[in-house]
Amino acid sequence: MKIKVAKHAGFCFGVKKAIEVAEEVAQNSHDSTYVLGQLVHNEKVIKNLEDKGIIFVENINEIPENAVTVLRAHGEPGTTYKILEKKSITKGNNLNDATCPLVTLVHNVAIKLKNNGFEVVLFGKRNHPEAVGTSYHLKGENTFIVEHEDDFMKVIDYIHKNNFPKVAIISQTTMSVYGYKKLIENLNANFGNKFIEIPLALKNLDINYGYVDTICNPTKQRQSDIDELAKDCDVIIVIGGKNSSNSKELYQKAKEFGIESHFIQSDEQLQKEWLDGKEKIGVTAGASTPDYLINEVVERVRELNKLRIRKIIK
Ligand code: SF4
Repeated sequence: MKIKVAKHAGFCFGVKKAIEVAEEVAQNSHDSTYVLGQLVHNEKVIKNLEDKGIIFVENINEIPENAVTVLRAHGEPGTTYKILEKKSITKGNNLNDATCPLVTLVHNVAIKLKNNGFEVVLFGKRNHPEAVGTSYHLKGENTFIVEHEDDFMKVIDYIHKNNFPKVAIISQTTMSVYGYKKLIENLNANFGNKFIEIPLALKNLDINYGYVDTICNPTKQRQSDIDELAKDCDVIIVIGGKNSSNSKELYQKAKEFGIESHFIQSDEQLQKEWLDGKEKIGVTAGASTPDYLINEVVERVRELNKLRIRKIIK
């Protein structure tokens, strides 16, 4: 039996950086370090950071005045900064902002499109922190978010109902590349082929309907690695946090290939039966999964395979 690990499995640079920032800040601070929200959608990594004294809070009100604070890679709405400022938590002082530059890029794209008269529609997950942060720069809670490529008629109805002269679509960085492509195809098939691609540089905005490819490269690499695994593996194991958007997309993509696939958080969840009759096991992991969890899964697959072979020989 062979095990093939995806080339780009695990931490993306944005998540890696956010964890490094939190660890470094906590190490150098005499006071407690607070992180607003899950720094990374991975339960084991969070536990590990908590053991280092980092305090995670879901509600901004739980952060005390003047506290050393870290903001995660997903990006925050401007209201977060305003509330923190009132608590005397500011950049260059006690606020450490680990927002990924690729998320900031999406914010900037959203702002520029809006300022150029576009009604901006976001392809994303409504309650995902990144979508909340990006929405802030548009219409806040009223930003139109389309979650699935099959919901294209909702977008068209929204455009017709409001008679928007200019509409642009952007995507959360961790969405499915296939799903985004399909959404645009569906829209064009039912809206007179009007949506054309606007390059990321946003040079020519003198059009009425367009879309910008804002899915980040690390997400694209992880998703295209699934194509490689699907070519020659009998089963694909996807490792990722339960709330990790990009990990769930990888699992969904693996299943769409019709290959037996399993979504796990750690090696304890692996089951021996998944290896029965399999020649090649594919392993991949979302951008919030550390290398050591991937290695543990690979080791456990090897162990389970040995146990399985022993049983067959008996
Ligand atoms: S998934 Fe992409 S946008 Fe999000 S933190 Fe990683 S590199 Fe940045």
